[in-house]
Amino acid sequence: MNYKTCTKCDTTFEATSENFRPRKERQNKLRTVCRNCEKNKQKEYRSTPQYKAYQKEYHSTYGKIRRTRKDYKNFQRRWQKTYREKINNLEQRKMHALIYSKKRRANIQLNRQQILNEFLEDMKKRKQQ
Ligand SMILES: [Zn+2]
Repeated sequence: MNYKTCTKCDTTFEATSENFRPRKERQNKLRTVCRNCEKNKQKEYRSTPQYKAYQKEYHSTYGKIRRTRKDYKNFQRRWQKTYREKINNLEQRKMHALIYSKKRRANIQLNRQQILNEFLEDMKKRKQQ
């Protein structure tokens, strides 16, 4: 049996996919961080104000769209492309300022409305075809 030590918590586990997530690019390779640590990291990220703000933005926009599975997928794709990427690229502090400063909040609202409008336009076009 092979063993592998997590680079984050320094714990040694059996080198199986139960303890380490496989790497997407190479099927036989496992990640260097154990599943426990990945779980904790996710949890940490989900409790940040950044993530909560993102979720809030997402749901308040998505809430305005009719909920069919196909529409949802399209919407999600577009949203992630135009909004999430932009936000992920910002440093955390910058993003915090972006969401919470009053001056910029208006801009966010505008962008959100734009994304929504574009999406609704697309839906209309698809229906007409
Ligand atoms: Zn670990």
